[in-house]
Amino acid sequence: MKGLPPFQDIKPEHVEEALDVTLSENRETLTNLLKQKNISWQSFIEPLEAMGNTLSQRWSPVSHLNAVMNNDELRVAYNNCLPKLSEYATELGQNQDLFKAYKLLSEAQESENFSTAKKQVIDNALRDFHLSGIDLEDKNKQRYGEIQKRLSEIGSKYSENVLDGTQAWEKHIDNVEELSGMPQSALGGAKQLAENKNKPGYILNLEIPSYLPVMTYCDNQKLRKELHTAFVTRASTLSPSGSDWDNQAHMNEILALRYELAQLLGFENYGALSLATKMADKTEDVFTFLNELAERSLPFAKLEFEELIQFAKEKDKLEKLEPWDVAYYSEKLRTQKYDISQEELRPYFPVPQVIKGLFEIASRLYGINISSNSNMETWHEDVQAFDIKDVSGEVIAQFYIDIFARENKRGGAWMDECKVRRRDSEGKLQNPVAYLVCNFTPPVGDKPSLLTHNEVTTLFHEFGHGLHHMLTKIDIASVSGINGVAWDAVELPSQFMENWCWEPEAIPLFSAHFESGEALPNEKLEKLLAAKTFQAGMHMVRQLEFALFDFKIHTEYKPDEDFSIQDALDSVRKQVSVVPVAECNRFQNSFSHIFAGGYAAGYYSYKWAEVLSADAFSKFEEEGVFNPETGQKFKECILEKGGSQQPAELFRAFRGRPPTVDALLKHSGFM
Ligand code: ZN
Repeated sequence: MKGLPPFQDIKPEHVEEALDVTLSENRETLTNLLKQKNISWQSFIEPLEAMGNTLSQRWSPVSHLNAVMNNDELRVAYNNCLPKLSEYATELGQNQDLFKAYKLLSEAQESENFSTAKKQVIDNALRDFHLSGIDLEDKNKQRYGEIQKRLSEIGSKYSENVLDGTQAWEKHIDNVEELSGMPQSALGGAKQLAENKNKPGYILNLEIPSYLPVMTYCDNQKLRKELHTAFVTRASTLSPSGSDWDNQAHMNEILALRYELAQLLGFENYGALSLATKMADKTEDVFTFLNELAERSLPFAKLEFEELIQFAKEKDKLEKLEPWDVAYYSEKLRTQKYDISQEELRPYFPVPQVIKGLFEIASRLYGINISSNSNMETWHEDVQAFDIKDVSGEVIAQFYIDIFARENKRGGAWMDECKVRRRDSEGKLQNPVAYLVCNFTPPVGDKPSLLTHNEVTTLFHEFGHGLHHMLTKIDIASVSGINGVAWDAVELPSQFMENWCWEPEAIPLFSAHFESGEALPNEKLEKLLAAKTFQAGMHMVRQLEFALFDFKIHTEYKPDEDFSIQDALDSVRKQVSVVPVAECNRFQNSFSHIFAGGYAAGYYSYKWAEVLSADAFSKFEEEGVFNPETGQKFKECILEKGGSQQPAELFRAFRGRPPTVDALLKHSGFM
């Protein structure tokens, strides 16, 4: 197929050289572009977009193959390319002339008549230049660089401490009776850990695959307490493994530096800086949002916890429910109430049926037609390729699905861009192409691969990202599809798509028993739907605790005061927590999302996107879950627009009003 990556011909030995050539061509193009006297959209942005597109077209298949068809040669080539790419990106971000050219264009007469999409491109570029410190005075610019460098150093020190602190602890168990209640798979894992160290018996550690089954299933309360204590004190002075990995000083320094950085760039605090690239407007808006969710979920969380206390009392005469008892009794209560397991549902979700149903739903909603395209070259025999056609029968996008786990393929599920929709300077359109990747169990013998309901939801989620990427009608690459979409809004189309996994009207489309062909029976369906809201309140307030804590420390921190991270966390817990917390709990010391990851002052985004997707879906609940007009409207207002407009405007255009939290609360069973 013309224009698609020739995956079979991509050889590791060519990768580095090809990148070198592209980068040096791009550098030359840029130098020439910046020599121009008169900057215009056509003479400046169009060629810039074209050179960006060339790079991403050549790099995307390489980075994709590195993820799904890894081998030693490719990995070496790939890793050799990474520093070159990051050097190139820094060069562009710190290029004064490039920045000036954007500024000139934004002030030029021409820009008054720019479309919203074009204006957005310029705004985004100027914003990102500002956030990179390019327009600071020399003295401040130097300080900016020092802060960034130090932040990346302590950030990685923080994660190393979490990692080392996690690995420093393990427990050897001789007698399997101590592990009663644990499922076979977890026991096998613990035995394996011991065997790896040439020891008899079992080893437990603080990695999630070992820790979680103990907390959820192990009948031995003393053991649960011991593991819990070790887990919640990781990277703190209270850890049973000692205080070598204590993160307290790092957290203080990170907060101080982030505050200074925000001030340098003209923001009141780091929370405000974080919102510069997000849909949420002001820091107050985030607090109002989280507080409202908290206020309305808390009564339900309290009731659920009360139910759990009662259950534990009746079941085991437990007088006091301790932190290490919560997951254990919750699981017992869940099994008693709903008696349905993910495994039991598998026979009803064979992969071919799930894919067929998913396409049918997309077709009903958006008037598109998806058909297999066996002419598209792929990278593995399991990969399937498809065309998306619009109502007129014209191909508007293509995608690959690589659905099964295999060796040398990165775990997890994701959607990635192979090509972005754009129109070149001659007016020629490049259609979007997507990769959809999952890691489900491959078929065995002549039995199809059977999915759990969770896995079905994952596939729908990634396909939602895919539709956002592929149904766009925007012709400028940097704001088409998922490009340029604010971080707290980019999960809207994906979480939105998940809703159909729970719709009684939709489930028969993607479920059929792999032997009998029978759709998921009502009795199982009802249990599945009922179990969805089990402890929804407790789950909600826990997420809100993390989000509020994150946002609070990043907005309330002041360098001259005696700011205490622990006090901030305590006050948030007082407000929203319902489960008991161990005295020794130092959860903040291992909260890598916000201290070492990209979620600083952004943890709220999880809930934010959930509110958007639930509220968008509620329009379908009102007008019919397969109402083609509602589907068309969602496509036109959200999916087609990509990052060309502010997400708040797009949402309002679709819903006719700003988002409210009601739908999410209703879906959680609180209304
Ligand atoms: Zn996602």
